[in-house]
Amino acid sequence: MTGKELKEQLIYSPKNLGEILSEEEIAKAHEFCEGYKIFLDEGKTEREVVEFTEKLLIENGFEKFDRTKKYVAGDKVYYNNRGKALIISVIGTDDIENGVHIMASHIDAPRIDLKPRPLYEQTELALFKTHYYGGIKKYQWTAIPLSLHGVIIKKDGTSVKVNIGEAEGDPVFCITDLLPHLAKDQVQRTLSEGIKGEELNILVGSMPFKDDEVSEKVKLNIMRILNEKYGIVEGDFINAELEMVPAFKAKDIGFDRNLLGAYGQDDRVCAFTSLMATIETQNPTKTVVTILSDKEEIGSDGNTGLNSAYLKYFIADLAKPYGVDGRTVLANSTCLSADVSTAVDPTFQDVTEKNNSTYANYGVGLVKYTGVRGKGGTSDASAEFVAKVTQMLDAENVIWQMGELGKVDQGGGGTVAMYIAALDVDVLDIGVPVLSMHSPFEVTSKLDVYMAYRAFKVYANSK
Ligand code: MN
Ligand code: MN
Repeated sequence: MTGKELKEQLIYSPKNLGEILSEEEIAKAHEFCEGYKIFLDEGKTEREVVEFTEKLLIENGFEKFDRTKKYVAGDKVYYNNRGKALIISVIGTDDIENGVHIMASHIDAPRIDLKPRPLYEQTELALFKTHYYGGIKKYQWTAIPLSLHGVIIKKDGTSVKVNIGEAEGDPVFCITDLLPHLAKDQVQRTLSEGIKGEELNILVGSMPFKDDEVSEKVKLNIMRILNEKYGIVEGDFINAELEMVPAFKAKDIGFDRNLLGAYGQDDRVCAFTSLMATIETQNPTKTVVTILSDKEEIGSDGNTGLNSAYLKYFIADLAKPYGVDGRTVLANSTCLSADVSTAVDPTFQDVTEKNNSTYANYGVGLVKYTGVRGKGGTSDASAEFVAKVTQMLDAENVIWQMGELGKVDQGGGGTVAMYIAALDVDVLDIGVPVLSMHSPFEVTSKLDVYMAYRAFKVYANSK
């Protein structure tokens, strides 16, 4: 045997999808991402993703989950948790006590939330005070167009939906930054303090109300416009959830158009791919349970995050008509925690370790564990479950890669994996590698997006 043959047999060598996929498969992957771009543009907050997805589910024969009903194989249901999270299920032929197949992604993304009393005026300009949501590098959010999304509950109990800055011709908003000419002191700050939390103020207007008697005329004029448009008064901001997100649309990146840039790909890339896989799954063996969760970016706490009991209760409700305990179902279940991984950045390679990182174009990324300081705060997947997943993917020629978050002690993070593992379920993190994660413009490879979709489809249809 030659060294070359021996090397092929013994040495592990991942390959670039661009080199191994056929032109036809590459075209399919690129085409698949056209739908993904629409999903990204239509759903810039968890509420918008839920609304968009619910319509799609109904179009595809899914019905609202009724906990008193005993579902049979082939039934398709969904549970809407407070308009911010979804559990979608396709009932399988196998007995529910033998477990279900869970795919869990999240649809919240880092952003800039308005404070409960946001509006103020200074130097005759009107601004919003904000409190950022999730892990952001604050300086990245200045001097870019932002759009306003959310809901306001009025005194009469009616709810007003807000979406300004997305439609062609809409105004947008922005956070101003200091001109370099006068930034002598600012540039001495550390990068994390370059823009401070209380400096993330949003410019929302500049026209004074024409009246000599009153003060804060610009603020008054903004309230006049908002009152005309939405029928709200300043106090109504208190009963609201209003969020600023990047106003730009999903775009192809590069001369070859193989990368995709957009806000919120962490983790709507896994939400979209697992959702498509679920919608296309007919009569699976195992019952498929797909979760689009909220609050992952702030630690999964709160009643729409996966650290709440809503998944556990859904499983218990699903199993009860069969006389089966939820805990029995969970103990026999497996889960793909569908979340993004870090793609090695050519400019910042030294934060990753090359043999144990995920790369753009190398397939869907498996991550055995996340966490910080010696695997703290994670679910470290078992060898048995990793073997089960990789063998399942290999059998269907789904190209995957294995990596960890970054170099040991370089930083860290987590996913929903640990919360689902806490329910006595076998869990493995799997998702698409992302460049510029948590920035206003995150980057993925279309080939990896397509591989994630294929991986979820294989899992949903597996025994
Ligand atoms: Mn994520
Ligand atoms: Mn994240």
